[in-house]
Amino acid sequence: MAKNAKPGAEPVASTSNFIRSHIEADLAAGQYASRTWGGKPGPARTHATAAADPAKIRTRFPPEPNGYLHLGHAKSICLNFGLALHYGGACHLRFDDTNPEKEEQEYVDSIQDAVQWLGFDWGPNLYFASDYFDFMYEAAEYLITAGHAYVDEQSAEEMRANRGTLTQPGRPGPWRDRPAAESLARLREMRAGTHAEGSMVLRAKIDIASPNINLRDPTIYRIRKATHHRTGDAWCIYPMYTYAHPVEDALEQITHSICTLEFEDQRPFYDWLLAKLADGGLLAQPVPQQIEFARLNLTYVVLSKRKLIQLVDEKHVTGWDDPRLPTLVGARRRGYTPEGFRRFAERIGVSKADSWIDYSVLEDCMREHLNEVAERRMAVLDPVKLIIDNYPEGQQEDCFAPNHPQQPELGKRVVPLTRELWIEREDFAETPPKGFFRLFPGNSARLRYGYVVKCTGCDKDEAGNIVAVHCEYLPETKSGTPGAETVKVKGNIHWVSTAHACAAEVRLYDRLFREAHPGAGDRDFLLDLNPDACRVITAQLESALRSTAPDARYQFERHGYFIADHKDSRPGTPVFNRTVTLRDSWTK
Ligand code: ATP
Ligand code: MG
Repeated sequence: MAKNAKPGAEPVASTSNFIRSHIEADLAAGQYASRTWGGKPGPARTHATAAADPAKIRTRFPPEPNGYLHLGHAKSICLNFGLALHYGGACHLRFDDTNPEKEEQEYVDSIQDAVQWLGFDWGPNLYFASDYFDFMYEAAEYLITAGHAYVDEQSAEEMRANRGTLTQPGRPGPWRDRPAAESLARLREMRAGTHAEGSMVLRAKIDIASPNINLRDPTIYRIRKATHHRTGDAWCIYPMYTYAHPVEDALEQITHSICTLEFEDQRPFYDWLLAKLADGGLLAQPVPQQIEFARLNLTYVVLSKRKLIQLVDEKHVTGWDDPRLPTLVGARRRGYTPEGFRRFAERIGVSKADSWIDYSVLEDCMREHLNEVAERRMAVLDPVKLIIDNYPEGQQEDCFAPNHPQQPELGKRVVPLTRELWIEREDFAETPPKGFFRLFPGNSARLRYGYVVKCTGCDKDEAGNIVAVHCEYLPETKSGTPGAETVKVKGNIHWVSTAHACAAEVRLYDRLFREAHPGAGDRDFLLDLNPDACRVITAQLESALRSTAPDARYQFERHGYFIADHKDSRPGTPVFNRTVTLRDSWTK
């Protein structure tokens, strides 16, 4: 097994796609064969590990530690780590912490946790962009010296005005051709804290009239008198993301820098910058290449950080790990599995064209995996009492229920049967609709793993509500005995003994939004919240569930997949979250 996989993580299957074709062409051409995995300047740590490492390709997952990861990030993680696994390469986890303002250790920890939970291992390749600040600064001085950058003292408005528009070329400002020595002096003053925020910036000197606006002398350093979560107050100038990112990739000797489509217009700058730094001997060849793919767009959720923050801050959900949220901490608490995510990433593939994936594709992947691994249990979610009038009071007998229908090796468990049981309210009808095969007066149905019972009627309270259903059992029909098949019935219902049942809180989660495209057009996305996305009930569970460990997953027969909530379950009183129903009820 390749080193990026944890034991138990199956390698991602090998459906081809344009990124794989690209990598295979590079490998066939020997693009990286001569690479020494050494290189000129750069953080020693990086090169020390890289030199001894036979990785064929290097990818990276580069989150900004300013929020919790979501389902879209899962796609990117599975893609980058999956490629490294597939080609015998390495995938780096790199925190892109070049912006001092919004980044926090809390996010760093939760991101590491999420990547590991998904089943991936970065090994020794954990990096922080802020560790490269010294190199980035040296590279900036080099660019000035080589005539590729200058300090611009125009105001923000002047700069904007001179930058032109999509249809009009930009115009050079008054500082563009200043002597390198002067820019260098200014940059050093910027670094020393001599100048106020916004008073000047360092810009690359490329082509102010370029049709690609990103090449019109983009800003590469700005003054920010802010404390950084790792470098503290060591710096008061910070590199722009577009400058920092290619440098980070190059220092780590990333071969394929895979990002989402909105960076396509940045690729010329990415290439320009790395070529200039390689020409100057600051970086080793071959430099990384950027490849773009379409981000994940999923119906019925929002993946924008801003909207997720709003949902949490305004308390539309209970926190970042609310099981309704599309965050990975939420999905995990909901009961979604890493295997389900990897299956999903493989199924949706990667493409160059933006598209929408229906949420049911993700749910199906979870169902498929849970169907394979979740043991079965009986749970009555909307209980009404069933009284077997011909069953002796005080008697109890064992029924044997298989833990998994396709995996007999998982054995059977005892389910006690008594005279009074809980059944689902909807499994009884006083006047049955057409095609109803379960309990109604005069009809027989099977109690799973127990007997066939014949319904005789029901009791009602003064308001006319049904409070108990009555039946008689056919003693020769017990499941697993020779007489079981003598009476044929169409209905087959689950049940729990009232004497043994464990009453438990169950949260019936559903999709957070009721519209496929929340906030489409100009509508406020909050208006599309699904008010029924969390229904809390008290269910009657079979006694074996009383001692459920937190995070244990089960299929509740006929209902769906459930997980014992790891925050709110207590020994003897589990709380269950519904992960997903057995069948999709959303497809119209
Ligand atoms: P921001 O707007 O703050 O940059 P972001 O969602 O891009 O938000 P990052 O932390 O920068 O967050 O993302 C880390 C990585 O995850 C990036 O490489 C990005 O391309 C990828 N990523 C983010 N959202 C998606 C998505 N919906 N589908 C696929 N990849 C995504
Ligand atoms: Mg981003």
